Amino acid sequence: MNIKPKPHIVIIGAGFAGLETARRLAKAPARITLIDKTNHHLFQPLLYQVAIAGLLPSQIAYPVRSIFRRQKNLTFQMGEVTGINLEEKFIKMDGSVIAYDYLVIAAGARTNFFGFDTLEKYGLQLKDVATAVATRNHLLSMFENASHEADPEKRKAMLTFVIVGGGPTGVETAGALSELIAHVMRKDYPRLNLGDARVILVEAGANLIAAYPDELRKATLRLLKNKNVDVRLHTKMADFNGQRVTLADGATIETQTLIWTAGAKAAEIVESLPAEKAGMGRVRIEPTLSLPLFPEAFVIGDAAFLPNGDGQPLPMLSTVAIQQGGAAAKNIKLMMEGKEPRAFHYKDPGLLATVGRNAAVARIFGISFSGFIAWMIWVFLHIYRIIGFRNRIIVMFNWAWDYFFYDNQARLITRE
Ligand SMILES: Cc1cc2nc3c(=O)[nH]c(=O)nc-3n(C[C@H](O)[C@H](O)[C@H](O)COP(=O)(O)OP(=O)(O)OC[C@H]3O[C@@H](n4cnc5c(N)ncnc54)[C@H](O)[C@@H]3O)c2cc1C
Repeated sequence: MNIKPKPHIVIIGAGFAGLETARRLAKAPARITLIDKTNHHLFQPLLYQVAIAGLLPSQIAYPVRSIFRRQKNLTFQMGEVTGINLEEKFIKMDGSVIAYDYLVIAAGARTNFFGFDTLEKYGLQLKDVATAVATRNHLLSMFENASHEADPEKRKAMLTFVIVGGGPTGVETAGALSELIAHVMRKDYPRLNLGDARVILVEAGANLIAAYPDELRKATLRLLKNKNVDVRLHTKMADFNGQRVTLADGATIETQTLIWTAGAKAAEIVESLPAEKAGMGRVRIEPTLSLPLFPEAFVIGDAAFLPNGDGQPLPMLSTVAIQQGGAAAKNIKLMMEGKEPRAFHYKDPGLLATVGRNAAVARIFGISFSGFIAWMIWVFLHIYRIIGFRNRIIVMFNWAWDYFFYDNQARLITRE
């Protein structure tokens, strides 16, 4: 008797999109290989909390093998996919070749420095555990260095923190860093004049969080100013050499810290795909989420470019990635049954961004609001979405502790 082998589904990336695809295929009669270059799933929306010493990496990252311990049809492999052959249906990973029947490319995005070599060398970024920890080490070291710096000008430069990019990540980081200085560092460094410390948020456009409705942009600006963040709109960064930021109008800011949150581009692995690329190197996909000419190969999440109903590209958001992960899984199941895949439609769950303690902006069910209620929703939603019951409890406890005692638990400098 001839037993037909189960189809092999390869998923590249255990981020929001890949994880959701894999979970939704738990009962599928298939073999699934999930591949990621790291061994953990990372909750990127809270990376800035690692950078400002609010949380430890282990509280927002979870081992992939633990997540799928009970999913019998799935194997996890840690490794970097370096090549994809769509014609012959195989991928290359760390020297081995893996054949597939269905492929899901959910490799996400990386930081885009737009060819600024010095920025890439000296600037800080928030993209993974390593870059967030490097940012934390740098920020905390600045206070240590400033505490024994005799020259007031040099001290001032050490205590000047520039964040470039007024999107949600830049806004969240600026607000949280300003609070770290005001509530925590003030207690840790009683002899340091923290009146010298400045958090400057530089944004080239006319607004912060440009993708949000106008009332929320204005609320964000107001909330950040209340937290002593120096917001500079219509201001373009021209260069950063590790000691000084030069702005496009020639003005300079003496600082050793620049956190770059102003650019993203699709993961390196999609660069070589024989498919049309849109802005930020994202791959143009069909409404069914597959590649044109290759219906069994899907690209989803940040790496994919798909216009919404209104013609605008779907944003690089976890909510889009998760919904696309579910839809890709559904389409693979349909195709395995010999049926036609269906077009993807994004259901917008609303917008949320925090600006710091008691301060957030939200648009839910078409209603915009800001302040404490928005912040409480942000807090509980983020705790709910973190993977692992233990992590949820720890994060809830840490945040409650920090809230009542004005503390940031993870003030560790972990390098020489
Ligand atoms: C700092 C920050 C804050 C954010 N805040 C929010 C927020 O508040 N709300 C929100 O909705 N979204 C937010 N986002 C965006 C959100 O995190 C992304 O939209 C989401 O992670 C995209 O999911 P993804 O699965 O496409 O990619 P990712 O989650 O990035 O996962 C991609 C995975 O692929 C792996 N990978 C990449 N290349 C390879 C390769 N060649 N081989 C093997 N593995 C590979 C990576 O290691 C990674 O694990 C934020 C992003 C960042 C960086």
